[in-house]
Amino acid sequence: MATDILHADTVLMGGLVIDGSGRPAFRADVALRDDTIVAIGELRKISAIRIIDVTGLVIAPGFIDAHTHDDLICITQPDMTPKVSQGVTTLIVGNCGISAPPLRFQTSVSEPFNLLGQKEDFAYATFASYRQTIEKVSPRVNVAALVGHSTLRVQCVDDLGRPATAAERDHMNALLQEALNQGAIGMSSGVFYAPAQAADVEELQSLAQTVAGAGGVYTSHIRDERDGILEALREAFAVAEPTRTPLILSHHKCAGVRNWGRAVETLGLIDAARETQPVHLDCYPYTAGSTVIRPDLADGEVEILINWSTPYPDMAGRTLKSIAEGWGTTQAGAAERLMPGGASYFQMHEQDMREILKHSCCMVGSDGLPHDSLPHPRLWGTFPRVLGRYARDLNVMSLETAVHKMTGLPAATFGLSKRGAIAVGMKADITVFDANTIIDRATFEDPTQIAEGVVHVFVNGALAWTQNAVTAERNGRFVSRAGVS
Ligand SMILES: [Zn+2]
Repeated sequence: MATDILHADTVLMGGLVIDGSGRPAFRADVALRDDTIVAIGELRKISAIRIIDVTGLVIAPGFIDAHTHDDLICITQPDMTPKVSQGVTTLIVGNCGISAPPLRFQTSVSEPFNLLGQKEDFAYATFASYRQTIEKVSPRVNVAALVGHSTLRVQCVDDLGRPATAAERDHMNALLQEALNQGAIGMSSGVFYAPAQAADVEELQSLAQTVAGAGGVYTSHIRDERDGILEALREAFAVAEPTRTPLILSHHKCAGVRNWGRAVETLGLIDAARETQPVHLDCYPYTAGSTVIRPDLADGEVEILINWSTPYPDMAGRTLKSIAEGWGTTQAGAAERLMPGGASYFQMHEQDMREILKHSCCMVGSDGLPHDSLPHPRLWGTFPRVLGRYARDLNVMSLETAVHKMTGLPAATFGLSKRGAIAVGMKADITVFDANTIIDRATFEDPTQIAEGVVHVFVNGALAWTQNAVTAERNGRFVSRAGVS
């Protein structure tokens, strides 16, 4: 038994282990062999090819970004510097109803799929071909994938302005089942967005049933995060409740000035639902959201920063208010002219965001938009910001709790086996960081700055990030739903 672990490839010596479970940090060395954690404890006598002194640093499980739109960029730009530089080792892709597979476009990429990439990037008619490409490319970080409801809908439903017919539901369910058989971790929906707006509860319930049958999860970008938020939450609960499909409410927020202070109310409703069905949340640590430019969100009350615009690329970085004034029109009118494009909406209250972030069922998800010319800084800053600003500096939660929200909690919630913990037998996805210095550097003005304090990142045992740079080795894998090979 002991001889089994006498040899290691790498030993991290002298660190403080935060193991991802939420329990208090403890001092230990950690040994890795191949892609696995093989020993934890006092390991000075172990023989290893490489010994890395991590005295004074934290050894944590690699972070799982619970909410991304990195479906295609992890293939086209596989170094994934925005994520690995934050200590992220696994991406959950396919959120908000808009997964890249299984979908191709004949003409141009319609909104909101354009958040994911260009027409030629959408090259995966089947989920299996997407999975094979991830395995072949081996991005710098692991990829676990949801299937988007809108992705299914645009292929199977003839008229997007109405709910699916029984035959169309069957078609969607067949595609969904095929993807689940290939290892998809579940389905996402985004009835907030045009392609899915006409979907009714019955349509979504029928798909959620397929997800539940496979042991997957259902994530929801709810219909309304503003005035109608309670109704929208009830709709999401109703979809998942009959089959007890694990529900994840995406980027939970109370948006719009009139709804500031309502997190108490929404979290209360969520807690009540949790008594009868599994519900989790994800959240990013900023008071601005970001999505496509939508005139209906230009309420004149919240500040809106243009991130990109196809017809007016030089307007990126300017506020909608100043653009509208310059053009002598309303903000909604200016938004209309700037489309298609993306924007950041300063629509949440800091206290609501903190309440949500610290809720026991809330995970950390960046929701970063990797193609924006001037992206919301959450793309490069989310994880160090939670650890540095919200855990260390503002004491909103302990460091152990913050790490749990980015490791053990998402691994359990999404059904990712052997990830999210520092324990013998787990995959060697490890982030070593300096708890004293870790902090985000990305800002709205300068959004692509690398965060500070992430010292080493291992992905499946390979060193992926060190000395503030990516290494030559990429070792990310496709991560299937637990129980699917
Ligand atoms: Zn969303």
